[in-house]
Amino acid sequence: MFVDGGYRDATSGETFESRTPRDGSVLARVARGGADDVDRAVRAARAAFDDGRWRSLAPRARKQVLLRWAELIREHTEELALLETLDVGKPVNESVRVDVASAAYCIQWYAEALDKTYDEVAPSGEGSLVTITREPLGVVGAVVPWNYPLIITSWKLAPALATGNSVVLKPAEQSSLSALLLARLAVEAGIPDGVLNVVTGLGPEAGAALGRHPDVDKIAFTGSGEVGRMFLGYAAESNGKQVQLEAGGKSPQLVLADASNLTAAAEAVAWGICYNAGQTCNAGSRLVVDRAVREELMPQVLEVARSFVVGDPLDPATTMGPIVDQRQLDRVLAYLDIGRDEGAEVIGGARVATGTGGYYVEPAVLDKVSNDSRVAQEEIFGPVLSVVEFDGLEEGLRLANQTSYGLAASVWTSDLATGHRVARQLRAGTVWVNTFDATDVFAPFGGFKASGAGRDKSLHALDEYTGLKTTWFDLS
Ligand code: NAD
Repeated sequence: MFVDGGYRDATSGETFESRTPRDGSVLARVARGGADDVDRAVRAARAAFDDGRWRSLAPRARKQVLLRWAELIREHTEELALLETLDVGKPVNESVRVDVASAAYCIQWYAEALDKTYDEVAPSGEGSLVTITREPLGVVGAVVPWNYPLIITSWKLAPALATGNSVVLKPAEQSSLSALLLARLAVEAGIPDGVLNVVTGLGPEAGAALGRHPDVDKIAFTGSGEVGRMFLGYAAESNGKQVQLEAGGKSPQLVLADASNLTAAAEAVAWGICYNAGQTCNAGSRLVVDRAVREELMPQVLEVARSFVVGDPLDPATTMGPIVDQRQLDRVLAYLDIGRDEGAEVIGGARVATGTGGYYVEPAVLDKVSNDSRVAQEEIFGPVLSVVEFDGLEEGLRLANQTSYGLAASVWTSDLATGHRVARQLRAGTVWVNTFDATDVFAPFGGFKASGAGRDKSLHALDEYTGLKTTWFDLS
């Protein structure tokens, strides 16, 4: 673990195995943090917050430290990318070009923003001066998943630290390694000891202890809805801490009858479910397609999906690595059976490279799926596309919205007015029109409905890590 400026063992001395999905072998033994360790980290974070060693620095000083951190991340690109690829099976090309680069840029972006955001003066008249200032919340617990460890971690840490909070990060047990290096680089960049701590460990142990800790002011969580709701429970049982949730989706890619560029749509649909082996919260896992264009679209989707090179994530030619672990692979394969039982036509989805000991599976399409079925409603989190057909815009829109989730959606149409109208009516935190998964740190990310509450990224995330303070000066 990384607590109070240095690496530590768990108080119990216990560890757990971290296996690489590349071949199933043990990659590392990681400290198995428990409630004692979480408490130690929270106390270090609280001490750092209370004495102001970070939050009381001039904004421009905090900015310089965070910029240096982003630079150090870039200087360690290959090391971080290798850790990420070994730990979670991301193709190494993507780890370098996307994951490390985005994490560094996210930290840079918030560093640059932090000395350019102003507070407010209320219209109180001449007898008083009333200021409204944003104050850091205190100790933030960040609980993150394994699908984009560096990226999602940076979405939480960058705005939390930019606004002067202290942080205790609990990485997913499948992906502790890049977080541990990230923390060391933060201290090297000048983030004072105790401001950023990483407690590795299992969800029900370290994660639950962080959620229940009475001196944590806020939890920023990304992961499954089930565990997200547990954090609401932990907050209720303990100190009523704020809980921000990003809890996945079943995002529709809605292709309307007037979509003219079906080649582009097919490309986006296939990438939207195959990228990161479908282990993406906003994966376009539901293709909702008008019967009028279905026959022309589907062969192209299948062709793009089949063009993914599934294999060793360390091979630069690989475009789809393994599933993160055995449990997740079993889950994906089980959903193929569920789809079959529900009457879907299953195309692809074979296990491949079994001799390696790794968790490889080909992209799969579940065709002719009813939108009520489990495979159209539940998050599979693998390269599995469920295809639902409709007749006419109204039915398509109804089916697209017929989900408990509301994270993301896309609509394909050649009519800009239709695109506008449908985008307004799709109940999702992000809607793409004639594209999919376009993203940048300036755009808020998060969901409606069961996909959670609160937003990562953009200047709006600064509000997630601050509270408003009203200060009333009597001038009479
Ligand atoms: P998860 O929700 O169990 O794990 C997310 C984080 O919560 C991890 O850090 C984990 O250690 C922690 N956690 C787990 N159980 C906990 C508990 N009882 N108390 C406190 N913390 C706990 O996700 P998972 O099990 O790794 O994946 C299961 C499913 O969740 C996936 O199949 C997928 O559908 C979904 N998922 C969503 C996202 C996303 O980005 N929204 C990411 C990963 C997984």
